[in-house]
Amino acid sequence: MTKILVIEDEEFVRENLIDLLDAEEFETFSADNGKDGVAIATQEVPDLILCDVMMPELDGFGTLERLRQNSATETIPFIFLTAKAAKIDFRQGMELGADDYLTKPFTRAELLGAISAQLQKKARVQAKYESDLAQAEAKLDYLMHHDPVTGLTNRLSLRDRFTKIRETAPLDAENKPIIPVLYLSLDRFERLQKSLSHTHQSTLLQEFAKRLTACIQEGDTVAYLSDREFAILLATATQRQDALRVAQAIGKELDRPFLVSDSQTEVFLSASIGISLYPQNAEDIDTLLSQANAAREYVVAKGGNGYHLYTVSLQVTTGDDLSLESHLRRAIERNELQAYYQPRIDLKTGEIVGTEALARWIHPEKGFISPGKFIPIAEETGLIVPIGEWMLKTACAQAHQWHQQYNKPLVMAVNLSSRQFMLPDLCQRLVRIFSETQLSSRYLELELTESVLVQNPNLARQNIIALKNLGITIAIDDFGTGYSSLNYLHSFNFDILKIDRCFVSDLTENPQNAAIVKAIVEMSHSLGLTTIAEGVETESELSCLQEYTCDQMQGYLFSPPVNAEAFGELLAQDKRLPMLASV
Ligand code: C2E
Ligand code: MG
Ligand code: MG
Repeated sequence: MTKILVIEDEEFVRENLIDLLDAEEFETFSADNGKDGVAIATQEVPDLILCDVMMPELDGFGTLERLRQNSATETIPFIFLTAKAAKIDFRQGMELGADDYLTKPFTRAELLGAISAQLQKKARVQAKYESDLAQAEAKLDYLMHHDPVTGLTNRLSLRDRFTKIRETAPLDAENKPIIPVLYLSLDRFERLQKSLSHTHQSTLLQEFAKRLTACIQEGDTVAYLSDREFAILLATATQRQDALRVAQAIGKELDRPFLVSDSQTEVFLSASIGISLYPQNAEDIDTLLSQANAAREYVVAKGGNGYHLYTVSLQVTTGDDLSLESHLRRAIERNELQAYYQPRIDLKTGEIVGTEALARWIHPEKGFISPGKFIPIAEETGLIVPIGEWMLKTACAQAHQWHQQYNKPLVMAVNLSSRQFMLPDLCQRLVRIFSETQLSSRYLELELTESVLVQNPNLARQNIIALKNLGITIAIDDFGTGYSSLNYLHSFNFDILKIDRCFVSDLTENPQNAAIVKAIVEMSHSLGLTTIAEGVETESELSCLQEYTCDQMQGYLFSPPVNAEAFGELLAQDKRLPMLASV
């Protein structure tokens, strides 16, 4: 039902209006002064507001001004009702952003006409916004899911495809599903890179992609991974021989030379192919790819140009992980963990506005161990729960101390693993940490990855609401490396989007990445999200980001993650990002 709010101090007029609108089956709300009107509008977010000009408490102009300052109410169509038809009032109202003006007394037809015109205009604006958003979303989706040179799908889409194929995989002779995964690289491509121009290399890759596609059937998928490596999902296979047959067919396609440099030069390519099988070898695409890659490496080591099926003996086991795990169990007690802090800079002011806490492990014998190595082990073993809790407590206490010392509203961002996110008592744990460390919850920001959300979307939605109700800010970390579209992710109602380093790192040389970052920032802004670019290393990346109006950045260009003492010094000297002249 369409909601209409009437703000009018004269009881007689107000009730008349309400009766009339009720009869037209609008849902009505009313207030007899501007102040209450603003409060009701903020709470109910009506579809249209009718408002008197002269009222006690807050007049119509003041009411409109306040409504236009609040993002929840700023676009609500607003019609003034007034007995005075003075031109000056009319102009003042319009300048404040009123949509229409009705002079009392007005007829029923005039009123309903004005309402209907505004509602139609609102619907048109909304439809336009939605279709623009859908278009931008589709464009971004395409950019993020395809390789620009070959036009093939990329690693990101491969995951999606695999999940879909798995649901409908054909069955083998024993009625078991089967999906072969092929991992393929071009042998000795480096020698061609020396002799062929960039354009000719691209043409060669495109031609190669075509031949690969010719070897598979409709429903199968060829993806370009990176650095001349490809993957194939054989959705139509019913036995492992089908995989071998495709590998042989690819070998045969490569017997014919490729013509490059305006058909002047013949080039021969050969490929090394590794194959793994779902579900015999593994159930998830990441493991299947790494197994197929291990089989491919075996072929490469044998001189390339061939294929090999993955076997367990190819697995790289080091025993290293096991000894790390047992040490990690005691790392907290032994004070071997440290929190490092990387500043986050506002791109408009160049000021430090926040920091991300990043775990560091200083192992007594092995020395520095990177989180990339120990966090996955901690996640697998569940040790991430105590480690993550220690990080939260340490970071919150640190933030509180810095607030007191430097009197700046510094935001503290902490990474939250999926195990922590799924803890049924996460909110209680956080409340305890806030009370122990005296940090106000509004300074804590939790960074979640896309994969955490898509595992169990409904639960994730509820958890995020609960966290936001505590006053915590939610960020999506490593955006673009996961599975989903921005519009879908947005339904989780987070506040901040962190653009993954892989899009930022060669922003200036890679037009595809530039287009992606630009589109992400634009879409985020139209969805009301703050954007943060991760891993900014060069001045030119920075100036691109400023041009795209990205909000904040983190990266070595300003500072790597540093220990608490060094971060304190950055705050003490109020270090700033030198602002570029052009901005
Ligand atoms: P992340 O949350 O995406 O953190 C950003 C990573 O990018 C950090 O790596 C940071 O040192 C690195 N980085 C920042 N600026 C630059 C740059 O300009 N260039 C380059 N090349 N790298 C940059 P780090 O500290 O090695 O952490 C890796 C990942 O480990 C983090 O990625 C995060 O996912 C995880 N992690 C770290 N600490 C924690 C923790 O306390 N809890 C959880 N659950 N995960 C953590
Ligand atoms: Mg992070
Ligand atoms: Mg990240």
